[in-house]
Amino acid sequence: MPESVIEADYVVIGAGAAGMAFSDTLLHHGASTVAIIDAGHGPGGHWIDSYPFVKLHLPSQHYGVESRVLGDSSIIRGGLNDGLMSMASGTEIVSYYRDVMERVFLPTGRVTYHPMTRFDWCGHAVSLVSGRRHQVKARKKLVDATYAAVEVPSRHQRKFGADEGVRCIPVNEVTRISGETNRYCVIGGGKTAVDACLWLFENGADAGCIRWIVPRDAWWINRSNVQFSSDSFETSFTRVAEQLEAISEAASLDDLFLQFERHDLWLRLDRSITPTMFHGSTMSHREMEKLRSIDDVVRKGHVKAIHRDRIVLEGGTVSADDDWLYVDCTAAGIPPREAKAIFEPEKITLQWVKWGRTSLSAAVLGYVEATVDGDDLKNDLCQPMSPPRTPADWLGTFITTARNEKRWSSQQDLSKWARTLRLDMSARLLSEVSPDDAGRIAILQRSRNAGKTAVTNATRLLADR
Ligand SMILES: Cc1cc2nc3c(=O)[nH]c(=O)nc-3n(C[C@H](O)[C@H](O)[C@H](O)COP(=O)(O)OP(=O)(O)OC[C@H]3O[C@@H](n4cnc5c(N)ncnc54)[C@H](O)[C@@H]3O)c2cc1C
Repeated sequence: MPESVIEADYVVIGAGAAGMAFSDTLLHHGASTVAIIDAGHGPGGHWIDSYPFVKLHLPSQHYGVESRVLGDSSIIRGGLNDGLMSMASGTEIVSYYRDVMERVFLPTGRVTYHPMTRFDWCGHAVSLVSGRRHQVKARKKLVDATYAAVEVPSRHQRKFGADEGVRCIPVNEVTRISGETNRYCVIGGGKTAVDACLWLFENGADAGCIRWIVPRDAWWINRSNVQFSSDSFETSFTRVAEQLEAISEAASLDDLFLQFERHDLWLRLDRSITPTMFHGSTMSHREMEKLRSIDDVVRKGHVKAIHRDRIVLEGGTVSADDDWLYVDCTAAGIPPREAKAIFEPEKITLQWVKWGRTSLSAAVLGYVEATVDGDDLKNDLCQPMSPPRTPADWLGTFITTARNEKRWSSQQDLSKWARTLRLDMSARLLSEVSPDDAGRIAILQRSRNAGKTAVTNATRLLADR
């Protein structure tokens, strides 16, 4: 079969949240052409393969690409997230990204999109449908929007064995059960496992019918504190000030996270256990209370094997019964990956430049690429960070985020643009505060005061660990 060529100024590998947000700002701030290559059948990345009841854990308003709002600013009424801003479901997100591709990107005439096409990282891409091989030529830069290597349950290979006769399903399949059991063993301590337990509750399971294997306990961000809207300004920004004050005053890392808990910033399942895990996920108080109703929580490390009569874990064995349905929620989500230079002579590797914000980070990188000259300056403005796996890691990402934001504020154009971003949960609200609003100014002054010493103390806390 003859080889054809996919050629553009920028060739973006990956049409997930990162590749889409980067392409969007690049297109809106210049005249470059973009070719987007993705092995999947539509834009949206891992959301295409997510479990049926997956949702964002942050408000939709601050996710997606900058030029098109995802969802609306409606408030959830009823349920475990009562009073919080709406969070899009996986299917809404997938349909949103298709819309962005079809209604925003392709009509520019500067974008070509190549779904079902895998890039081999050696200059070629192959259609997974026809087998046709394409030479890939980026006139300016190749953009790696796959570096996060997100691992979702449907694409994950479980790491423990299960005997014949043991029913162990990936979380994606739990919606297909048809009354064969009412006893569930949910495996995993992260957001997916939490979603699985809550889905079981929502669909009528009793707490007594759920066993939950939690290999490591996590700290969770209190979702009510990340509701950055004008109505919740006072609460959210008071929490920001309290967080900065805690960071600048903490005597040790343990002291810091306990202060976060006292200020209702972070939550944990069991107050007698010190969490060693932090992935940056949020949870509402009501959800946490519901989860606390599960008594049968197994804390013996990771599962090594499931036999029909027992579960073998790193820290011991617990008995089991044939009628358990095991729900595997052990995919890593966002696995740890070493941070690497973002801007290289022929390549851009998209990574977080603001912690926990894939869309925002990629949008900033698109803007910087389109408007700033010289890779040295671009790298100086955008120091990457590795996603946190532990609470201490989080403090490292806090420091890098603060450093980057300070650097952005030194660039007139960049800081002006960054203040208008809807993807930045707080920046836009901050820029709208009237100088006559004494109440809000006082709250912001608290943050400014604490911010002066927070990074210094955070650096000391990490060094003293
Ligand atoms: C369950 C869950 C909920 C989340 N909720 C939020 C939230 O509320 N708010 C928030 O800010 N963040 C959230 N995140 C984190 C983050 O925003 C998302 O994970 C984000 O969608 C990641 O996007 P990505 O583009 O980095 O990766 P992906 O979505 O994995 O996209 C990468 C793409 O690259 C393609 N690809 C890989 N290799 C190749 C190749 N060789 N050739 C061609 N294509 C290739 C893949 O097909 C894929 O489409 C959540 C994450 C998870 C897992």
